[in-house]
Amino acid sequence: MSIESINPYNNEVLTTFEEFSNDQVDALIGRAYAAYQQWRRTEFPKRAELLKRVAAEMRAKRDDLARLSTLEMGKKFGESKGELALSAKIIEYYAENGERFLSPQKIDVKYGEAEIHHEPIGPLLGVMPWNFPYYQVVRFAAPNLMAGNVVLIKHASNVPQTAIAIGQLFRTAGALDGLYTNLVLRGSKVERIIEDPRIVGVSLTGSVEAGRAIAAKAGEKLKKVVLELGGSDPFIVLDDANIDKAVGYAVFSRMLNTGQQCTAAKRFIVSESVSDKFLKAFSEKLLSLQPGDPMEEKTSLAPVCSEAHAKKLVEQIDGAVSSGAKVVIGGKRLDRPGAFIEPTILTNVKPDSQAYKEEFFGPVALYFTAKDEEDAIRLANDSPFGLGGAVFTEDLARGKRVAEQIESGMVFVNHPTLSSPELPFGGVKNSGFGRELSALGITEFVNKKLVRLATVNDPL
Ligand code: NAP
Repeated sequence: MSIESINPYNNEVLTTFEEFSNDQVDALIGRAYAAYQQWRRTEFPKRAELLKRVAAEMRAKRDDLARLSTLEMGKKFGESKGELALSAKIIEYYAENGERFLSPQKIDVKYGEAEIHHEPIGPLLGVMPWNFPYYQVVRFAAPNLMAGNVVLIKHASNVPQTAIAIGQLFRTAGALDGLYTNLVLRGSKVERIIEDPRIVGVSLTGSVEAGRAIAAKAGEKLKKVVLELGGSDPFIVLDDANIDKAVGYAVFSRMLNTGQQCTAAKRFIVSESVSDKFLKAFSEKLLSLQPGDPMEEKTSLAPVCSEAHAKKLVEQIDGAVSSGAKVVIGGKRLDRPGAFIEPTILTNVKPDSQAYKEEFFGPVALYFTAKDEEDAIRLANDSPFGLGGAVFTEDLARGKRVAEQIESGMVFVNHPTLSSPELPFGGVKNSGFGRELSALGITEFVNKKLVRLATVNDPL
């Protein structure tokens, strides 16, 4: 079956690719395995040099690369450029800090010496989503390559050109054949790769459904797995918050990448006393967004990633409404070609409805009012997800107290959840397990090996 690259702005098919055959995949895993034998012995400074060349190449080609991902998944061109700048920063961060993060750690012992060494473990499979098609890949690839592993990437089927372009960056930078391998495949072929004994671990960024399938297969084969899954992040506005700033960040966080961000604010939980003011300003700002070509700077509302995704979002909205939710604004497709959805706010979402528990991966905000701080925390935690979250209050001690009670992998006070190379990224509950970025991200797929030195005369 062929893999299509389609522009969601006008639903035009840009190009198609044939999926790799099983024989091709097996040969590529063989090359990755051979590359690993060499790369694991390559000194850190040499690994860092390669990564820095990849980052430089990414910066030099920024506009061409940004155009490609915008064409394939509809993100605003300016956001694509921003994503590439962040991706290059992440690569450089690991090039500069990887050796330090992985240096041996001494353990206090009564006699002799004991150290934890961080050794690479082998070829890893990364299964990646389309929403930040450069950033998601480098978040996985850069630390693992710096650690001495090699990577094979199964990118999302709707961004095949972007996936190929990333592989090309590594080739241009002079990467060893097999160090970074792009696999043109559908998700249905992933389990077969996990079964291959040469693959030692798998990292997925994607949906809960894909997470369950991949973790089940990895469990069967006893392979390490990291899961970065969906979220339904709370955005809590307490009664003492700066409402103007909170509204600005609410729009930013819900609408970045047309709402297709795992850590987007998805559930707005606003104190009763400030709710009317917040909801009015939030609605007005969302209604003022201008749909258009994501390549044009004046566009403030881009399409979602595909026609199928737009349909799914409308089905979710309709499902919420049929179970009692009320539409404050939006709720429908825009009357124009392409995968456009009206920015939408839903209230009255019932706790026993499906909408209350599921992720809306697009420009749809679920809106709740909270009686007080305790009620806001209760609502925030009443979710199967636990990825990020934000709390707005002018009292930082209060913000910290609330943040400590939120069940999620990341909480930001007075800022929306954001990603930066030095900040650990990941979730709890159905949002997955394991961490990416920061010093934590580079130790997920390494053997934390104890080396214990003693003389034969030392006591046992
Ligand atoms: P998705 O459908 O799960 O796809 C993600 C990747 O998994 C794609 O490469 C896909 O391949 C593959 N895949 C899908 N089903 C699979 C299966 N049963 N077995 C093996 N591989 C499978 O997710 P998406 O719709 O692209 O991405 C949106 C989801 O990702 C949202 O839930 C979002 O919150 C989450 N996300 C999480 C993070 C995070 O860091 N926590 C970051 C970004 C996105 P095909 O494209 O070939 O189907």
